[in-house]
Amino acid sequence: MKTYTFKETNRLLQRARRVIPGGIYGHMSPRYYVPDSDYPLYAVRAEGARFWDPDGNEFIDYMCAYGPMALGYNHPKVDEAALQALKSGDTVTTPSPVMVELAEFLVELVPAADWAVFAKNGNDVTSLSLMVARAATGRDKIVLVEGSYHGAAPWAQRPGRPGTVDGDHSNILYTRWNDYQGLERLVAEHRHDIAGFLSTPYFHPTSADSQLPGEDYWAKVEALCRREGIVLIIDDVRCGFRLDMRGSHEYFGFKPDLVCFSKAIANGYPLSALVGSDSLKSECEKVFATGSFWFSSVPMAAALATLRELQRIDGPRVMQQIGRRLREGMVRIAESHGFDLRVTGVPSMPFVRVAADKGAEVQPELHQRWCGECTKRGVFFASHHNWFLSTAHTDRELERTLDIVDEAFRSLSSG
Ligand code: PMP
Repeated sequence: MKTYTFKETNRLLQRARRVIPGGIYGHMSPRYYVPDSDYPLYAVRAEGARFWDPDGNEFIDYMCAYGPMALGYNHPKVDEAALQALKSGDTVTTPSPVMVELAEFLVELVPAADWAVFAKNGNDVTSLSLMVARAATGRDKIVLVEGSYHGAAPWAQRPGRPGTVDGDHSNILYTRWNDYQGLERLVAEHRHDIAGFLSTPYFHPTSADSQLPGEDYWAKVEALCRREGIVLIIDDVRCGFRLDMRGSHEYFGFKPDLVCFSKAIANGYPLSALVGSDSLKSECEKVFATGSFWFSSVPMAAALATLRELQRIDGPRVMQQIGRRLREGMVRIAESHGFDLRVTGVPSMPFVRVAADKGAEVQPELHQRWCGECTKRGVFFASHHNWFLSTAHTDRELERTLDIVDEAFRSLSSG
């Protein structure tokens, strides 16, 4: 099996570094791809579950643009809806009727939603959710789970990061994932000061195993929030529409007051949504929130087409099934080469790590090498982040992936 080279990627990165800080910033930054000699950094074309880099290398993509791609790149129904909207006018002085249609659709789809507002990125709506919680309660403090990601705004970044100041976090409190007692203590210490508890539906940090909620965790958290008048906010930006079309809280069996969606909502077109309960509707109305491109109709038309298609084919079930088969296949192949492949999280968003032996500690370097060996043969596996499945990952992609996984383990054993 041929291994890829990345001459054009490197040439582009060198050019980019002269005119763009870091060449590529944020979560697509080359510093996350180790060893960097094994990864493409640019894409010139994408189709279905695959993309092609400037060197002509083809990849089966298990990052799905870090989540937005859910139905496959260039999905005909989504692109057709987007194109029609584009022809009618995209960013116009007034919103398109499609905004009303999309809000109606979400309110019908998501039991926790009595209303919806739209923005562009996940961070737009996680930030807005804090404002709504504060406006509704007249309280300042927000509780976050340590190590969770909610966006790049200063309040959401780890304290001490360059460009943030102490004041950015002066009203942020931290608790630990799945630690109900810890949360209860924190609430008791700050009684009547906490506006909201913002959390992902399960814990999916970077560079560490994912953790599902313990039994009763969400039921207890929900009851605590109700009792204490705390707005329960779910950040479903990453998991949304990969676990349950009605929102991931339905998968885990509880009801939040606000839910943040983005990523998969429009199959790659830029859109996010904050949905919420009736009791917060008038508070949301009072909060000033807008953006130059927030009323763009193309992503909204794309979202309607995406959600209808995901619902029609039961997208979350399809992604969970293919994710389960990927996990089983990879674990079996790893074992046959004497390695231990550990998978946490949910099958549609697996977090994968490789250890040298059963029960051995994971050595990040070995895991990175394996991901690199796979990527330079044609399956894009990031080593620091959970992966994403889509409905475009079919048997064909799975078979090819498992062949490459096999070859990558063989090369680790021999090298
Ligand atoms: N919340 C979660 C759980 C996320 O995974 C992300 C993006 N990775 C965000 C919020 C922020 O979304 P965006 O990057 O679109 O602002």
